[in-house]
Amino acid sequence: MKDGLLDLLKLQDIDKKLQDLEDRRDRYPEEITTRQRDIDQARTAVEDQERSIDDNGREQRKHERELTAAKASLKEHEARFSSVSTNREYDALQQEIEADKARMADLEGHILTAMERGQALAQELVAKRQAYEDTGAAQQPRIDALEADLATLQQQVDGVVADRERVLSSVDPALLRMYERSRKRRGTRVAPIRKGACGVCFRQLPAQQRSNVRYTAQVYLCESCGAILIWDEQSS
Ligand SMILES: [Zn+2]
Repeated sequence: MKDGLLDLLKLQDIDKKLQDLEDRRDRYPEEITTRQRDIDQARTAVEDQERSIDDNGREQRKHERELTAAKASLKEHEARFSSVSTNREYDALQQEIEADKARMADLEGHILTAMERGQALAQELVAKRQAYEDTGAAQQPRIDALEADLATLQQQVDGVVADRERVLSSVDPALLRMYERSRKRRGTRVAPIRKGACGVCFRQLPAQQRSNVRYTAQVYLCESCGAILIWDEQSS
């Protein structure tokens, strides 16, 4: 076998490792964003619910103040009966009192509705807080792990790139050109022979070709997948 082919296999392992690191470095930020969005949405749901409860409470208190005022108005109108001297005044006062009572009934209805709504909103809030907690428990550990990994990924990439440079300096330029050419065609371009077959596409190789790969200085490509065939210590 031509000297230097084993370097190509080494180079290929490095390139696979590099590709994997780069894929992760490119993919992780998006995954972190997606998971973070889940947490943010759950928190927003809790905040919206709390705001609805506040609004409802404010509405209820406003109606309660108005009810107090309506009761005071009724009392005041009732007190005026003693000083009424004409039928006309009496009728007018009677109408005012009816209006006070109608208003009080209306406000009491609003207050009851607000109280019922407040209870329902509070129950929903419990469920939404639980969902927020569950989402955080499900997403945060993975986010932390991805961020920790991301922080060291560039360093790992730099290390593998340095390894690649070292291997490159010892690879025969003609072989390297062949490697780069075949790399454009397929993911895997260097195939160690395994059990008499191409290690990439598993096509069985003729005995003569196996022997050529093993003992001659020429470079052979798999006729089926185009990978550069090599013979290493695990070949047979
Ligand atoms: Zn093949």
